Amino acid sequence: MNRIDLKSMTLNEIKAAFAGQPAFRALQVYHWLHRGVSDFDEMTDLPQSFRARLADEYYIAAARIERKYCSKLDDTVKYLFRFNDGEMVEGVLMSYHYGRTICISTQVGCKMNCAFCATGKSGFSRNLTASEILSQVQTAQLDSGERISHIVLMGMGEPLDNYEAVLRFLDLVSSKEGMNLGMRHISLSTCGIVDKMYDLAEKKYQLTLSVSLHAPNDLIRSRIMPVNHRWNMEELLRACRYYAERTGRRISFEYAMIEGVNDSVECAAELARRLRKILCHVNLIPVNTVGGSSFRKSSRERLHQFESTLLNHGITVTVRRTLGADIQASCGQLKRRFKEEVANVGNIQ
Ligand code: SAH
Repeated sequence: MNRIDLKSMTLNEIKAAFAGQPAFRALQVYHWLHRGVSDFDEMTDLPQSFRARLADEYYIAAARIERKYCSKLDDTVKYLFRFNDGEMVEGVLMSYHYGRTICISTQVGCKMNCAFCATGKSGFSRNLTASEILSQVQTAQLDSGERISHIVLMGMGEPLDNYEAVLRFLDLVSSKEGMNLGMRHISLSTCGIVDKMYDLAEKKYQLTLSVSLHAPNDLIRSRIMPVNHRWNMEELLRACRYYAERTGRRISFEYAMIEGVNDSVECAAELARRLRKILCHVNLIPVNTVGGSSFRKSSRERLHQFESTLLNHGITVTVRRTLGADIQASCGQLKRRFKEEVANVGNIQ
């Protein structure tokens, strides 16, 4: 019999499934699940018989730590998480003055195939369930012993390509009986899945929507981001404007600075023109060169020229601090390294 994924269920769904049980049972179980237990036997205040029944019908998703790398330069910790079926994703725990932020994954691999990104190079394996997305936060919190106050959906995968599970995750993690994490402490990053951006706007969540733009025009964007063939920049920016107006929330545009590709002053001026009417903020990030890629990061000088051009055009902009540079803390890099290590060990044997 296929067992049911209990941790992906909302409190109301669990209440409905436990009809006939004492009314407090559902809440008891929900509390345990959201404290991060991975076995029904840890739910010590439930009758033994009920625990056995649960174990027959349900399973508890978990994200186990397969590898952990601690940066020597800052407090960044990179995790390689393994799920019940052996699939793996990455997560990164970062310290900022305002608290601990975890960057988590939403899919095993990714279909989007952005030219500069390590995740896309390994192809797509499967979507994560809401419980698997949540488990990454729980495992990191239990491992670090510190409360995680912020979440960014910026790890492996495209969150809006796993829309239902991601929405369910947002409901779970923000539920007051769960981690009770405010939506304002959550960022969701997308490469620009326009139809789902419109759907998300209607939810009026107070989360921050990050849009990975990385280019000022279609010519450049289509070269580095295949999704631009499906929805071009005009369509994407129209959706961004709609999203900002509908939710009252500023869009955060991500712009990876790639030497000689998208980092000229002309690019900055064109970008500023196109973003003029959108409530937004731009984050400039020097691109990380990933295995085999010919993309190099822009020089500091280019970066600052770009930044001041945007500022002069009235666009708010920050240059993103890079954390965990010594532990390959950017998207998809660790899993590739792990696979290479395993492959090398395999060769020796
Ligand atoms: N699929 C989502 C979220 C995952 S990627 C998205 O595209 O937004 C998280 C962020 O890291 C995105 O902005 C992505 O474009 C960026 N990114 C990926 N590889 C990078 C690299 N090598 N250097 C800099 N940024 C990178």
